[in-house]
Amino acid sequence: MGTIRTAIGWKWDNSYTRLPETLYRMQLPTPVSHPQLALVNNALAEQLGLSIEELEVDGADILSGNKIAEGSEPLAQAYAGHQFGHFTMLGDGRAILLGEHIDPSGRRVDIQLKGSGRTPYSRGGDGRAALGPMLREYIISEALHGLGIPTTRSLAVVETGEEVLRETRLPGAILTRVASSHLRVGTFQYAANWGGADVLQQLVDYAVQRHYPDIKSGEGTALALLQAVIEQQAKLIAKWQLVGFIHGVMNTDNMTISGESIDFGPCAFMNSYDPETVFSSIDTGGRYAYGNQPQIAGWNLARLAEALLPVIHPDSTTALEQAQEAVMEFGKLYERYWLQGMRAKLGLQHEDQGDEQLVIDLLVMMQETKADYTNTFRDLTLGHIEEMSVAKHKDWEAWHSRWEERLHAQDADTKRAYELMRSSNPAIIPRNHIVEEVLEAAVKQGNYEQLEQFVEALQSPYAYTSEQQAYSEPPSEQVECGYQTYCGT
Ligand code: AMP
Ligand code: MG
Repeated sequence: MGTIRTAIGWKWDNSYTRLPETLYRMQLPTPVSHPQLALVNNALAEQLGLSIEELEVDGADILSGNKIAEGSEPLAQAYAGHQFGHFTMLGDGRAILLGEHIDPSGRRVDIQLKGSGRTPYSRGGDGRAALGPMLREYIISEALHGLGIPTTRSLAVVETGEEVLRETRLPGAILTRVASSHLRVGTFQYAANWGGADVLQQLVDYAVQRHYPDIKSGEGTALALLQAVIEQQAKLIAKWQLVGFIHGVMNTDNMTISGESIDFGPCAFMNSYDPETVFSSIDTGGRYAYGNQPQIAGWNLARLAEALLPVIHPDSTTALEQAQEAVMEFGKLYERYWLQGMRAKLGLQHEDQGDEQLVIDLLVMMQETKADYTNTFRDLTLGHIEEMSVAKHKDWEAWHSRWEERLHAQDADTKRAYELMRSSNPAIIPRNHIVEEVLEAAVKQGNYEQLEQFVEALQSPYAYTSEQQAYSEPPSEQVECGYQTYCGT
């Protein structure tokens, strides 16, 4: 199984093409008229072992799909999904997997073009993407990465030179997405419904080999896979909650088996702390509100468990019992990771019985004073107590003394506590109003300078540099109230 170096430094080894053909269709990208590189992620390119010089020359053609590098075997993946609770057959309707690239460290990653034309799974769609949403995905995925949260990455955005028709005509673009895989909960739902037990088993073995190689093959593999995904997702969702990230469309087709965040359409970061915060214009019922994310993740994982039942155990009652037990663990795991993260945000190095209440009491005050989530923790970290709106709360003094007491009880020297807080509380997040500002400059004026500076600042959110100060102002209440993000179009 050798790989050869081809255009721009790809080293392909396409294991997905060795899976049963019901799981995908070979499909070439549809060429575009005038591809132009709009953004390239040089740091990621370097990490992947790609040649920056060759990318500059050939990147537009290769990352638009106009030129297919030797060794790439483009395909569209089949999957299904519960979208807002309703089960549908889906698949890559506007994305194409160019193949799997092996990076210099031996890591296997999917290279996917998003917005690359119609596929057999396009249904009524045009297979294309608009520039704004692709740049948005670039910013958000790189921001999550900077925050230390597992996520798919963005290698580049190419402007196609063509327009896409949405509510208005918009410039078209293609995003190159890099993922540890694109296996989703929905991939397993597809296999269970349209593939049968044999396909399902092959998919299980594939996912285990690719993401959880420590799991032994044989009896119990599917259950072990389920448990591993539950653990990874519990960790991931806790990280989202801890930074106030709202995904916006947690459908089962947008939840990965690897535990990476994926598909950033109508996502946004919360400003004022409120569990009911929802930004997505299509989420009218608030199904995917901030505070609902953990429960929704649990619900999605129950759908994964359901899909896996036929391969969990030959006896259906035993399979159901084992699956249920695994899914029940999610809540406990999530709570544990969340509390662990919250302790770090408050500089608490050891566990204490009262920790959870201490956190909850702070969150209640934050909600009642409409305190900015990120800045409250940032100001606590910096000791800027007088600037915090939460400090106006009637219970603040009492809470603050309790917290300080707790800090001193663990360590007379609070230096370590503040260091822990600094590495746990970002000084900067991609705030919606700034994201929109830099997107507007890029899309309407072709000016990428602000966007690039912003992405640069988001690379080190725990650095607390003076440049980051400019990005940390929350929006005025007016702007905040009217803010909505739209589904990936
Ligand atoms: P998303 O909301 O991006 O997670 O997409 C949900 C489903 O709709 C996926 O199967 C996509 O491939 C498909 N889809 C979204 N936009 C388009 C489009 N413009 N053309 C074809 N399929 C699309
Ligand atoms: Mg999706």
